[in-house]
Amino acid sequence: MPTSNQLALCLRRREQGESDLIVTLLTREAGKLAAVARGVRKPKSRQAPVCQLFALSRVQLATRGDHGGLPVLAQAQLEETFYDLRADLDRSARAAYLVELADLAIPDHEPQPTLFDLLLASLAALTTALEPRVVMHSFELQLLAELGLEPVLDRCAHCALPLGDEAALFDAPAGGLIHARHGGSAQATSVSPEAVRAMRRLLRPDAYELDLTTLRMPPMLARPVAAALRSAVRCFLDAEPRALAIIEQLADEPEP
Ligand SMILES: [Zn+2]
Repeated sequence: MPTSNQLALCLRRREQGESDLIVTLLTREAGKLAAVARGVRKPKSRQAPVCQLFALSRVQLATRGDHGGLPVLAQAQLEETFYDLRADLDRSARAAYLVELADLAIPDHEPQPTLFDLLLASLAALTTALEPRVVMHSFELQLLAELGLEPVLDRCAHCALPLGDEAALFDAPAGGLIHARHGGSAQATSVSPEAVRAMRRLLRPDAYELDLTTLRMPPMLARPVAAALRSAVRCFLDAEPRALAIIEQLADEPEP
């Protein structure tokens, strides 16, 4: 029996056999799941666009078949390719990072409508954002929070007192921000009071009525935030997303 139509974002794809793909989809109702897309690597396959990374489609899955128990992509209608996102190297690398992070962080077969909506909204925001890294860092923080892994940003994770204007470190093994005077682990990185404020705002953009597509983040602020969130992802999710290396390579190119 095919399941009802549901919205799905393509998080990952890997080749199977001569012409099939196994795609990892994040569906709004059924959570993350893998499915077999038959024959999509053949020329002129109508389902091929659906199986592009971060494509949004309406899919119907069939559970019958002999594909190791995986459901089969029975029907799929492309809703959004994020074409403008794909045309820009930096934005598409960041979109690839978002879906990789979602794939690494979200458990299988658990409905995650909030995370689905967050990922979809973040991909849309990435398309037009003045500074794509703002959208990416807000996504990292909101994803962690939604999974119950929110770093401590509103006090010292070591002594629980307010951070005040004291020098602070982001120390992922300690749980988040700490006063610099406590020391900190080898992974701890310095964060300025401005970077602390920026992270708090990016964690709850709605509460601060932020429009992530128009927000600017100068490199002086973005660098410590990126370092802190990278260590949070590494520590809390035990993950080293491959797309990060590509984003960094692109950023290392000399400014025009
Ligand atoms: Zn403290």
